[in-house]
Amino acid sequence: MSPGWSFAAIALLAFAVMEPITYAVHRWVMHGPGMAWHASHHRARRGRFERNDLFPVCFGLLTVAVLIAGKAVPALAVLLPVGAGITAYGVAYLVVHDLYAHRRFVRLPRGLPVLERLAAAHRVHHRSSGEPYGFLVPFRSFRAGASAATARRVTARDRAGRD
Ligand SMILES: [Zn+2]
Ligand SMILES: [Zn+2]
Repeated sequence: MSPGWSFAAIALLAFAVMEPITYAVHRWVMHGPGMAWHASHHRARRGRFERNDLFPVCFGLLTVAVLIAGKAVPALAVLLPVGAGITAYGVAYLVVHDLYAHRRFVRLPRGLPVLERLAAAHRVHHRSSGEPYGFLVPFRSFRAGASAATARRVTARDRAGRD
């Protein structure tokens, strides 16, 4: 495999692995000992920022450390594509979760079916503080008929403007 392709393959793998890692961190850290920060994301936001934004700041700094290590230490060069994959996941999460689902900072066009479905599944998490903890692949709501039905009900309620 050429260096370019192996870089892309490792970055893609890191991107994919980030979803289960995000699930675990959201479920067992943010909804565990990190709830002091994460609770702000489950309340109505006052102002532009919320205490929960400290999480992406921490994750961003960790990713920068991974990238620097990958660049500075030849034996750890694999961390460069890993860091690229993590960065791409972070950008996807920012766009889908913060900008699209929560309509923060900018008004993105609505009505994209895949993103609407992800946003509806995420609203189920916000209402229950339970499953689905995942975001780009919110397994529970796709897998369980009951959860999917809940997501549809939530979407219908939001369309009716009662959110
Ligand atoms: Zn959210
Ligand atoms: Zn949560």
